[in-house]
Amino acid sequence: MAGGVDIYKILSQLACELQIVNLLPHERYDRFERQLEKLREMISCIDDHSSCGDPCLWKKLHSDTNCISTGDLGSVILNSDEPEALVFTRSVYTQAQENQTSSTKEKTYNEIKHFAEDLLKEMSTVFRNKDKEMVELTRNLTDWKSLSINVKTKGAPVVFALENAKFVENALKVGRSLREIDSEELKNQFSTFLERLGKVIENKSMEELLRIDAKDLIKTFMRNSNQYKGIEMIMQATIIGAIKISVESVAESIISKYGIHNSKIRALKDTTANNEMFVAINGPEVGEADSLLAKALDRKFSGRLGWHISVKQNLFRTSGPTVENILKRKSKLNIYSDI
Ligand SMILES: [Zn+2]
Repeated sequence: MAGGVDIYKILSQLACELQIVNLLPHERYDRFERQLEKLREMISCIDDHSSCGDPCLWKKLHSDTNCISTGDLGSVILNSDEPEALVFTRSVYTQAQENQTSSTKEKTYNEIKHFAEDLLKEMSTVFRNKDKEMVELTRNLTDWKSLSINVKTKGAPVVFALENAKFVENALKVGRSLREIDSEELKNQFSTFLERLGKVIENKSMEELLRIDAKDLIKTFMRNSNQYKGIEMIMQATIIGAIKISVESVAESIISKYGIHNSKIRALKDTTANNEMFVAINGPEVGEADSLLAKALDRKFSGRLGWHISVKQNLFRTSGPTVENILKRKSKLNIYSDI
């Protein structure tokens, strides 16, 4: 039980960390790996508290060891085999219990160890090999923290010489749309980017850089046109890298929603498109939006006669003969006749 509590503590930390949305793929993966590493250490030091380090990795188990070896956990007696004991004489019973309690610790520890090993095995499959490869590809693109530390210590030209081939290769692997562009141009942009990064972190000390969040650096560039203009391909590769694996599906669904609102057949201004997207993402589903739509129409068209929307050639009608006609229509298919 005590060992189980220690293991579940790791498991709950793992679950919490995997649920944090605002993390770059490599940040999430590294946090996850750190917890697995902890579990590995726990397995290796379960039998020996002295190799456990500080703080103790089996906080509950190792502090409850005395109780486990005597078989006595508060009012609960482990190995309570009294009915069986009735057939023994007193001395045989005492001997048997002694044998049993000395092996209780071993038995309990073995079981907990097996449990931890099984858990580790299962947890190691959370990130598939394909995902791990992708994490490493995106690490190179999005880990602006390490990049800025390198620029600070080695200077932008040296970092360019060391990193440009890998960066370009990974950017082309991650961002399909970048493949159409000349990789020489990508290299040039990478060089400009490193120079700009150098200027942004110029006044920061090494301690500050060690505490800096790569996402904040990316945001600084995204928000400032002086920073992102001319290095759009680098920004694109970084942003694609940042959403890979974890929030990729969320981003894709937003993009497809945007495509419905703002397309070639219905081109909108940026502000209108943003407003529509705000409602589309935060508002109710269309099927459940009647009261909200009524309120919006009341606000815009609350004249003497109220509103009556039935414009021809419109994709959306709230009333009018055609809509009523369609609603009255019955399906020709038998299976729908009762609906
Ligand atoms: Zn310990």
